[in-house]
Amino acid sequence: MVTVDSPTANENQMIKRLQALVSASITISSELDLDTVLQTIADTARNFAGAQYAALGIVGEDELIISFITSGISKTEREEIGEPPRGHGLLGVLIKQGQPLRVRNMSKDARRSGFPPNHPPMTSLLGVPVSINNKIVGDLYITDRINADEFTAEDEWWLTLFARQAAVAVQNARLYKKMKLARERAQTLAELAGALNEAIKPEELFDQITLAACRLLEVPAAALYLLDTNQTRFDLQAQTGLQSSINGELHTCLPLQGSLAGQVLVKATSINIENSAELSNVFFPPLQNNQIAASVLVSPIKHGGKVNGVIEVHSDQRRKFSPEEISLLEAFAGYAALALEKIQLHRQREDFLSMTAHDLRAPLTAIKMSAGLLAANLTDQLPPPLARLVSNIDRNSERLNNLLNDLLELTRLEQGRVQLKLAKLEIGEAVAATAHTLMPLFEEKNQKLSLEQPDAEGWVMADRRRLEQALVNILTNANKYTPSSGQIWVSTRIEENRVIVAVKDSGQGIPAEDQSRVFDRYYRRAIHEQSDEIAGSGLGLSITRHLVELHGGQLWVESEVGQGSTFLIQLPLNSAK
Ligand code: ADP
Repeated sequence: MVTVDSPTANENQMIKRLQALVSASITISSELDLDTVLQTIADTARNFAGAQYAALGIVGEDELIISFITSGISKTEREEIGEPPRGHGLLGVLIKQGQPLRVRNMSKDARRSGFPPNHPPMTSLLGVPVSINNKIVGDLYITDRINADEFTAEDEWWLTLFARQAAVAVQNARLYKKMKLARERAQTLAELAGALNEAIKPEELFDQITLAACRLLEVPAAALYLLDTNQTRFDLQAQTGLQSSINGELHTCLPLQGSLAGQVLVKATSINIENSAELSNVFFPPLQNNQIAASVLVSPIKHGGKVNGVIEVHSDQRRKFSPEEISLLEAFAGYAALALEKIQLHRQREDFLSMTAHDLRAPLTAIKMSAGLLAANLTDQLPPPLARLVSNIDRNSERLNNLLNDLLELTRLEQGRVQLKLAKLEIGEAVAATAHTLMPLFEEKNQKLSLEQPDAEGWVMADRRRLEQALVNILTNANKYTPSSGQIWVSTRIEENRVIVAVKDSGQGIPAEDQSRVFDRYYRRAIHEQSDEIAGSGLGLSITRHLVELHGGQLWVESEVGQGSTFLIQLPLNSAK
């Protein structure tokens, strides 16, 4: 018969400590939140040694993680003590020597620096450094051994093991965080590239860039400035997290002298300021809490080999931006430069187009008038093939004239050169009048037009001519894109503070992916672009949206393929009749 001796008290304690270590290891390997892992380590360290208190402090070398975790002390007690220890006195000795420290009575130790006010009295101490790659990154200490005067050498050995676990946890969490950030960075850059390619306005990209810079560089504020045309200052284009100045106004420009942007203009490379307090002569725009950033990183936006803008990120805490962070901000600056190029090309193209349209107008008017006169007076006398040619010239010069007018109108709207002549207008009446003037168009295609009038009068402030122009565009589209014998419904709904005019048709509908694009300049759906059956320039809806927005309203479409489309105009209601 084999007899098994029951474990001695010593062995029992050893088993308990091993269990505690194993359980802490399991937590570390299954949990990625650093504070949760560190809390487990601090709690287990306190329990295994029978200590009253435990604390674990980690200072991140790259400032990614800073944690101070306590065990055995309530949240309120923690708050009353205030700031975590700064590593003076005995903790300072522990960190400096990089060796375990065992003290029987702290108050009698000459190296102590004393407890802060409201700190509970503590007597015995056992502390060990936490190090990663031979570099001390923090400390783990337990205090007040229960039922004993001091901690033992064996406790010290175990605590060292726990500190190793803490180091592993810190390293895991750092790697995880870095990996997550790297993935997020790649994803954001891909999204920005997509946004730049898409029809999105390049200016909107600036907003996206400042938002992304804040999120990925983990700073509260970012701003993008461009050099003004006279090169005398930097004008703010987009920002996140900057404070309005004391008089409530945002600092919308930076001087060339006495700003980091000015320095970047000269150096043409990024500037990384770790401590802004050292630069007393430099202007820093205040953050949202009215404080000045502690650290700032500024990268140049280079266009055509020259710096013509900067992007800045502002940190409220002192930090040194890593090389990866600098490259990231430079990548953002690269996107901003591409957006600028897109804006410039767009402007050049539009300027050229409107100049050409303008120049074509006079000769075209002459052609149109001559063809009109010929068609009206001579068609009967001309042989049929010639009469057809004359009518062809007449129709197409009319088309060309409309196109030029639309082009010039859109350019004026885009440049904010259209002034509305606002007056109070009853919307139901205006919609009905416009629909009636277009009746011949609907009759020509044998389309049924149903007009639903509102129950009550609805007054809006509008420029009648311009509003009718918007309604005509939507109604003629319904007419054009709905087959013969189809139906069009026009309804006006008055709500509490808005009015909605809906033009619904029984046409082919617009696929979801095209619904926002139909409002873009020149955009025509492929089926219409590729066939000459329905004439159009792709400018009408773009003009209409501008006109509606100029009235403080909104224009959108709801549609399902095969079910027809509904274009909706929403306008603010003017309560004073
Ligand atoms: P245009 O009609 O001159 O092409 P618009 O800007 O008015 O230009 O319209 C843009 C495109 O939107 C049209 O080419 C057409 O493809 C689509 N569209 C507009 N209205 C409708 C509608 N009611 N039903 C279906 N497609 C429409």
